[in-house]
Amino acid sequence: MSHTERGRRVTLVDAPAERPPASWAGGGILAPLFAWRYPAAMNRLTVDGPGRYRALVSSLTGYAGLREDDLCDSGLWVEAAGEECRRALDWARDWGQRCEPRALAAAWPEAADRDGVWFPEVGNIRNPRLLKALRARLADQGVRTVRDRAVALDPMGRGATVVLAGGERLSAPSVLVSAGAWSSSLLSPLGVSVPLFPAKGEMLLYRLAPGRVPTIVLTENGYLIPRADGAVLAGSTLKEGDDSTHPTEEGRRKLEAMAASILPALADQAPEHHWAGVRPGCGRDWPYLGEVPGTRGVFAAVGHHRNGLVSAPASAEFLVQLMNGETPFLDPADYSLVASPS
Ligand SMILES: Cc1cc2nc3c(=O)[nH]c(=O)nc-3n(C[C@H](O)[C@H](O)[C@H](O)COP(=O)(O)OP(=O)(O)OC[C@H]3O[C@@H](n4cnc5c(N)ncnc54)[C@H](O)[C@@H]3O)c2cc1C
Repeated sequence: MSHTERGRRVTLVDAPAERPPASWAGGGILAPLFAWRYPAAMNRLTVDGPGRYRALVSSLTGYAGLREDDLCDSGLWVEAAGEECRRALDWARDWGQRCEPRALAAAWPEAADRDGVWFPEVGNIRNPRLLKALRARLADQGVRTVRDRAVALDPMGRGATVVLAGGERLSAPSVLVSAGAWSSSLLSPLGVSVPLFPAKGEMLLYRLAPGRVPTIVLTENGYLIPRADGAVLAGSTLKEGDDSTHPTEEGRRKLEAMAASILPALADQAPEHHWAGVRPGCGRDWPYLGEVPGTRGVFAAVGHHRNGLVSAPASAEFLVQLMNGETPFLDPADYSLVASPS
């Protein structure tokens, strides 16, 4: 149940789109890349991502044209041989995930052959469509959206006043900071230290016949993501410390070479789109979710880095439980923020 469904009045402050949010720019794979390399605190937010998205998409279908097949049941094939393959299978058993060893050519004769594992229940979400549908649903539920930039938070006895660049001041008993790669400027003045950094990523989009790429293919060098309508995303580059959102020639060449190494026919095809976004990079492999130390009622959800789409529904549920004083389904200590040493 969301915040509004609990009867709360919600205002969303979202800076005008000077640059695309990571949630628009991302690929939408509903699993971390090589999930077994992550700690339990990340896995707890992601393992049931596909199921949570199934429920979300079905509740949003029809809003802003969102379709059931915008959640694409593609499966996920991951390159893994020898010890890496064993680790993947052990991890899948421990976390209750369906997974089987499978050579890529067995699933897709057109591709270069490689050893790997296949997760049949992991798919991908067409995230730009989902964002539009979420906005439409929020408007329907009476959520007010303010298109302005928050420049400061002024904590009160309970909650805070949010100061906007345009001069408006909004006070609420409960405030959540979730400003992606730009969150530090709001949190640092509150005396909380979160190791966040921008991490630029570029993507390409190819147009192929639907089904030509039968599953998500993840290698050490990058991935292909098939959407239901035949669009195939090739991603992604990773440049820590870079918060620019212009796509580069270098990024394009790298992604084109990676895409052709998986599907040789792509060497003869130009991508239709090329874009970049900035991930909210984090100094640890799972996000910070919780109340800001020294405040009452100011919360943060930051540092989702490469996994903010798959984990969004679980992170949101956890935060809503914390913000409403309910017993959360995860241990808050695993995700809590720490005050800066004074
Ligand atoms: C190329 C690429 C590929 C990716 N692929 C995947 C994937 O396959 N699977 C996956 O799970 N994750 C993926 N990710 C990561 C995922 O996209 C991010 O972790 C997630 O979107 C972060 O969400 P966020 O809400 O924290 O930040 P954002 O989506 O960036 O949203 C931040 C919002 O805050 C607003 N804002 C910022 N500052 C202010 C302010 N001062 N006042 C008001 N508003 C403000 C911004 O305008 C923006 O709307 C990918 C990311 C990239 C870039």
